Amino acid sequence: MEKIRMTTPIVEMDGDEMTHVLWKIIKDELICPYVDLKSEYYDLGLRNRNATNDQVTIDSANANKKYGVAVKCATITPNAARMKEYDLKEMWKSPNGTIRAILDGTVFRAPITVKGIEPYVRTWKKPITIARHAYGDVYKNVEIDVPGPGKAELLFTGEDGTEIRETVFDYKGPGVLQGIHNLDKSIASFARSCFNYALDTKQDLWFATKDTISKKYDHTFKDIFQEIYEAEYKEKFEKAGIVYFYTLIDDAVARVMKSEGGFIWACKNYDGDVMSDMISSAFGSLAMMTSVLVSPDGKYEYEAAHGTVQRHYYKYLKGEETSTNSVATIFAWTGALRKRGELDGISELEQYADRMEKAVIQTIESGKMTKDLALITSLENVTALNSEDFIRAIRQTYDAL
Ligand code: NAP
Ligand code: MG
Repeated sequence: MEKIRMTTPIVEMDGDEMTHVLWKIIKDELICPYVDLKSEYYDLGLRNRNATNDQVTIDSANANKKYGVAVKCATITPNAARMKEYDLKEMWKSPNGTIRAILDGTVFRAPITVKGIEPYVRTWKKPITIARHAYGDVYKNVEIDVPGPGKAELLFTGEDGTEIRETVFDYKGPGVLQGIHNLDKSIASFARSCFNYALDTKQDLWFATKDTISKKYDHTFKDIFQEIYEAEYKEKFEKAGIVYFYTLIDDAVARVMKSEGGFIWACKNYDGDVMSDMISSAFGSLAMMTSVLVSPDGKYEYEAAHGTVQRHYYKYLKGEETSTNSVATIFAWTGALRKRGELDGISELEQYADRMEKAVIQTIESGKMTKDLALITSLENVTALNSEDFIRAIRQTYDAL
C-alpha cells in the first residue's frame, strides 16, 4: 500500500515520561505505516529544555507560527522536586504557557465520546466543547492581606497624569483585597478564536459572564464579543446555519445541564478552568479529552488534556506493565494531520484521520480498552489491555476497516 504524501511539515513537539513513551509507539504503529510523515521535530523533553535554556520551546512555537499546525506531547512543568530530579539550571516555565503567550490563543477542550462510557448527565448526547480564555483575571491578580482599619482605593494613572480613583472599601477591621485586569486586545483575540472555531466545527457558540453584577469588567467582555460578531461574523454564522448567543453565567450553567450537548461554551479564564474539569469528569475521563490551542490568526496546536502520567512512567521504568490510555494523544495526532490535510487540500490525509479515530472508538466499543476505562465502562466482557497492546489492537481495527 502506498503511503499518504504530505506537502507541508507538521511541527512535532515531543515531551516527557509516559506520554513520551506512548508517542513513539503511536508513531511506529499508527502513523508511519500509513503516512509518509513530514515533521519538523522539536524535543521539548525537560532535559533538552534545560540544555537549550528553554530556547527549544520558543523555537517550536515560532515554527508553529510559521507552518500553522503543531502536535504536542505532554511535558513536565518543573517544580522543586523536578529541579532535583533533573538537576535543572532554572525552574523553567510551563511550555504550554510559553507557547500560548507566543501564539496568543484560546484553548478548546472537548470530550471523546464512546458507547460504554456514558456521561453522568443523561441528556448529553453530543460532546460539549469548552473554550477557555487563557489570559488575565484572577490568574494575574494582585492581592493584599488587609491588616486592619483603613481605606482601599482603585487608582488608575494615565500616561498624561490623569487620575481615575474609586473607593473599594472603608475597612473597620482586617480583611482581604484583590485587583485584577484584562485587555481589550486579548478579549478580542479570544472572541475571534471562538467565532472561527465555531465556524470551523459548525457548532453553536455560547458565551456567558456575570455582566449584571460586573457592569464594567464583565460587560466589556460581552460588548467586545457582540461588536465583533456583528461586524465580522454574523453573516458567516447565518450562512453556516449556526448560532451565537450570550447569556448570564448562571443561566448558562442551568441550560448546559439540560442540553443535548454539541456546542461550544466560551468561558472567562476562571470559569473555563473550573468548568472544563467538570465537563471532562462528567463525560468520563481526563484521558478522553482533546485539547487544541487556536490563535486568532488561525494557527493550531493539538495536544492531550492530561499530563505526563508520572506514576505510570515510574512503573514502566521498573519494568512493570502499564495500562496508560493513549486515546487523547492519538487524537492530538489525527487532529493535527486532518487540519494539515484540510489546509493543503490533501483529502487522503483527512480521510486517514477520520478512519484512525473511528478505529480507536470501535476498538473501545468492542471491549478492548485500557484499565482506566475498564473500571468505569458499562460494557460487559471487557479486556483490559496494556499500553502497547491497546495501540496494536487499534492498528488491527484500522486495517480491518
Ligand atoms: P497526569 O499526568 O494528568 O496524571 C494524573 C493521574 O490521572 C494519573 O496518575 C492517572 O491516574 C490519571 N491519568 C491521566 N492521564 C491518564 C492516561 N492517559 N491514562 C491513564 N490514566 C491517566 O497529572 P500529574 O501526574 O499530576 O502530572 C504529571 C506531570 O504532567 C507533571 O509534571 C505536570 O507538570 C505535567 N502536566 C503537563 C500537562 C501538559 O503538558 N499539557 C498538563 C498537566 C500536567 P492513576 O495514577 O490513578 O492511574
Ligand atoms: Mg483546573
